[in-house]
Amino acid sequence: MIIDGHCDTLWRLLANKQADLSTPSGGHLDLPGLVKGGVVAQLFAVYVEPEYKPDRALHRALQYVDCFYRQMENCQGISLVRNAHEIRENIDRGVISAVLALEGGEPILDLECLRVFHRLGVRSIGLTWNQRNHIADGVAESGTGGRLSSFGVRLVGEMNRLGIMVDVSHISEPGFWHVIEISKRPVVATHSNCKSLCAHKRNLSDEQLAAIGRSGGVVGITMPPDFVSSEPEAADVDRLVDHIEHALALAGESAVGLGSDFDGTERLVKGISGVADYPRVLEAMKRRGFSDELVEKVAWKNWLSVMEAAWGEAVIEGAGDTNNT
Ligand SMILES: [Zn+2]
Repeated sequence: MIIDGHCDTLWRLLANKQADLSTPSGGHLDLPGLVKGGVVAQLFAVYVEPEYKPDRALHRALQYVDCFYRQMENCQGISLVRNAHEIRENIDRGVISAVLALEGGEPILDLECLRVFHRLGVRSIGLTWNQRNHIADGVAESGTGGRLSSFGVRLVGEMNRLGIMVDVSHISEPGFWHVIEISKRPVVATHSNCKSLCAHKRNLSDEQLAAIGRSGGVVGITMPPDFVSSEPEAADVDRLVDHIEHALALAGESAVGLGSDFDGTERLVKGISGVADYPRVLEAMKRRGFSDELVEKVAWKNWLSVMEAAWGEAVIEGAGDTNNT
């Protein structure tokens, strides 16, 4: 079984109105592929394209949510989940769980917006994409030294209260450390690799990997070749397992999962052409000598535990932050 922390399939589906999740339509991820790959839960990102930011970001995000809901209504065998209990129930009845996620906080104009997104089912939010927004700076703005804005601090507090995972995959390093400092719940990176093996700006340093582990979070190891190797043409499933192994050593055995980036990247590591090939990653972990238990943790159990911890019973009392000034 697999739980995958990130895909951009909604972006592909929204771009091609004829495309449908239930039938193969030329992408990396569809329903038959999820079944074949053994995926039991998949995070679906709402990725607002730069041309909609900032003024039309909320409108565009709602188009994504509509696309997501229509897919859920039209497809048999997959359903929106809002808590970890529903994922366990779906596993028992052979239904794939779909988790709604935001990649970039531009649509969250205020905390009311955040609470509405939570009601719509959003359970993971990447605070930024690569650029600066009203919450924090993305990795492309690393030179600024910017931490979270005061709104960003309140947003993380309200996400902690509601039970929405804080995703640091695209945030600048100072922003990352600020999130680690203030988040009362586990911090996750849904799709990032190890910087000491491949110096991509979106990959995480050893110190960052360890901090995610200490927070009780998970890093989702990702498949674009330029995140895997400085010689992308050489990036294959074994090099991907190098990242899994390194992240396990730094973050701990409970803090590493998978986060493919299917449909968000043109190229994938050699040997993987889409979600149906996930068993090859599990086989490569076994060949490397991982125990069955460790393979299961990386494949799905770690994500499920962190979802339970990040979404479960509110850790902060009260009705939420209502100060709009
Ligand atoms: Zn991304």
